[in-house]
Amino acid sequence: MKITEHITNAKGKTLFSFELLPPIKGTGIQGIYNAIDPLMEFNPPFIDVTSLREDYVYKQHPNGLLEKLALRKRPGTVALCAAIMNKYKVDAVPHLICGGFTKEETEYALIDLQFLGIDNVLVLRGDARKSDSAFIPTAGGHCYASELLQQVTNLNNGIYLHEDTVLGDKTDFCVGVAGYPEKHFESPNLDTDFKYLKMKVDMGADFIVTQMFFDVSKYKAFVDKCREHGIHVPIIPGLKPLTTKKQLINLPKIFHLDIPLELSEAVEACADDKQVKEVGIEWMINQCKELIKIGAPVLHFYTMGNPEPTKRIAEAVL
Ligand code: FAD
Repeated sequence: MKITEHITNAKGKTLFSFELLPPIKGTGIQGIYNAIDPLMEFNPPFIDVTSLREDYVYKQHPNGLLEKLALRKRPGTVALCAAIMNKYKVDAVPHLICGGFTKEETEYALIDLQFLGIDNVLVLRGDARKSDSAFIPTAGGHCYASELLQQVTNLNNGIYLHEDTVLGDKTDFCVGVAGYPEKHFESPNLDTDFKYLKMKVDMGADFIVTQMFFDVSKYKAFVDKCREHGIHVPIIPGLKPLTTKKQLINLPKIFHLDIPLELSEAVEACADDKQVKEVGIEWMINQCKELIKIGAPVLHFYTMGNPEPTKRIAEAVL
């Protein structure tokens, strides 16, 4: 079922969902099931599976020469979605990214998804490779999420690559895109970022999932600004509880967001990460209660494969 239908059917009740990373190559799928099982009691209507592009690694040969290889450490997004749908009877939402994929590979993936009965996709540009300082598009791939979105909407209209004179089977994907309450880090200002977000919605995006945030007023301001700009699709808040002191530095650095002073001071005052986890969970419980009060459609957790904090938050608020 489409995510928009899940939200409509909930009739204003806030739903619960979460996101997982595919396992590192060579690790079995059981670890993923172990991360899902404790959260199934909260009836997620959908589970997201991220997609990660290739990165460069250097392999040393016996003669001493180094070979630069482009490898994907976490393949398997589409297959994992199929496995999750089969085992748990919930919708799985694969993330589709521009980086690392040609347009043809993307089309083949979309055809696989249609055959598997997957109704939703989240389309993204994708992160830069760790070894690159900025996003470098793949030759023959897309530069922006909007271009990838256009490919999906084309397919929804029966327009396939290289077959543009013949209309094929129409797909019917419900498409999500990313939104940034605190601005995407490459955008010169929030208004420019909004211009491109609005463009994605005008091109057919059905829902928005936000970057994580720790201050509900930022989500609320973002939703208000979207509505003012004529963006009326559901806006799903992305959430992640703080669990370690290191994240006070890492999360702002990686995700370009602010951690409120009250939270950062509470974390700094903790003796160890066990205490930080308690502070982070408590903060997120309050955040979720506020989000429910203002009518957020879904509480969507970035679990990173660790279900325990999310489980405790869901127990407290759902
Ligand atoms: P875009 O919408 O393409 O925007 C990128 C930047 O370009 C923005 O600054 C935007 O304002 C600007 N822009 C957009 N269109 C244009 C245009 N036509 N001309 C000029 N500028 C333009 N990364 C992964 O690698 N894998 C994942 O699975 C993944 N999942 C994510 C899930 C969520 C909910 C979120 C919020 C992020 C996720 N990311 C993921 C990270 C995301 O890919 C990065 O934040 C990336 O830098 C931007 O992606 P985007 O889809 O927002 O890009």
